[in-house]
Amino acid sequence: MTGLYLHIPFCAVKCGYCDFYSLPFNREEVDRYVTALKNRKELKNRCFDTVYFGGGTPSIIGGDRIADLLSHINDKKNAEITVECNPNVYHPDFFKQIQAAGVNRVSLGLQSANPAQLRFLGRKHSAKDFEQAVLAAFDSGIHNLSADIMLGLPEQTEKTLAETIAFCAALPLTHISAYMLKIEPKTPFANLSKTLFPNDDRVADLYLFLCDALESAGFEQYEISNFAKPGFHSRHNLLYWKLEDYIGLGPAAHSFFNGKRMFFPRDIQYFINGGEMIEDEPAYLLQEYIMLGLRLKEGIRLSECIKRGLKAPERFLDTCRKMEKHQLMQMQGDRIALTRKGFLVQNAILCDLL
Ligand code: SF4
Repeated sequence: MTGLYLHIPFCAVKCGYCDFYSLPFNREEVDRYVTALKNRKELKNRCFDTVYFGGGTPSIIGGDRIADLLSHINDKKNAEITVECNPNVYHPDFFKQIQAAGVNRVSLGLQSANPAQLRFLGRKHSAKDFEQAVLAAFDSGIHNLSADIMLGLPEQTEKTLAETIAFCAALPLTHISAYMLKIEPKTPFANLSKTLFPNDDRVADLYLFLCDALESAGFEQYEISNFAKPGFHSRHNLLYWKLEDYIGLGPAAHSFFNGKRMFFPRDIQYFINGGEMIEDEPAYLLQEYIMLGLRLKEGIRLSECIKRGLKAPERFLDTCRKMEKHQLMQMQGDRIALTRKGFLVQNAILCDLL
């Protein structure tokens, strides 16, 4: 399996919490960038199982440019082709255009259905805008639709979270990604008082509440932050967690290919000028298999750890058994997986294991 990630680094406004590589929209620069993407040698003589337009805000470049890019990509029959979309940054024909070009999955950033929380985040859309975008995508024939929501917002309670989940559940969504708000250094949010945000214990309570509420609404958890209706797991993201090959194109995009990690610098001109991927630190395949695999509800296999060079499996198993006693892990035959309680302290568990 091979996936392709295309980074579209343009946004209408910069959100105060965001440290992704993104730039203001500029038509000439967008056109130069799309041309640079189309000319990449990494696209030649390759077929992709998944294609993911991420950002930034991919919908800002318009359906015609996305269709043009897709016409330069060989995707396999039944490939999953996803475009991220901002609920108020798209042209009326956008979804029809991308559906006709082969896009079969759309991921939309809601973050919250609560107006005060959206205002706090500096999001320019309302819950109504999100609803209209979901219905427009659905009506155009794209029926695999994902929403991003956020945990750890000021004044977020079980009640406001339940309202956001009920709002999502009433729409034809197939997938929900629920991320913790992370305060990144050097963003405007880094200057806000920490007391505005719920503390770790509150966020843990909200996380457990969210998992239960989403499952009651028919979204089964399959990864620490991801929930899906049956058959609608994100095939592209699963490539990352299962250490399959993917190629990332664009400034700040990362790749994992033939056992090597590579990346492009956070510099659009470097990319437009045809700069090459830079080789990253060597991949530590056993450690990465454990770290990424334990994000998944299905977890990891001991036999696979041994195949990847695990020394002293008995000691490793002893640590797992201790975690199991504390209900942080589940072990069944060859399989080792974290419980929900385990997901909450995943970093500490990984420190112990690795
Ligand atoms: S729209 Fe997304 S990528 Fe763009 S600034 Fe906001 S959070 Fe970052």
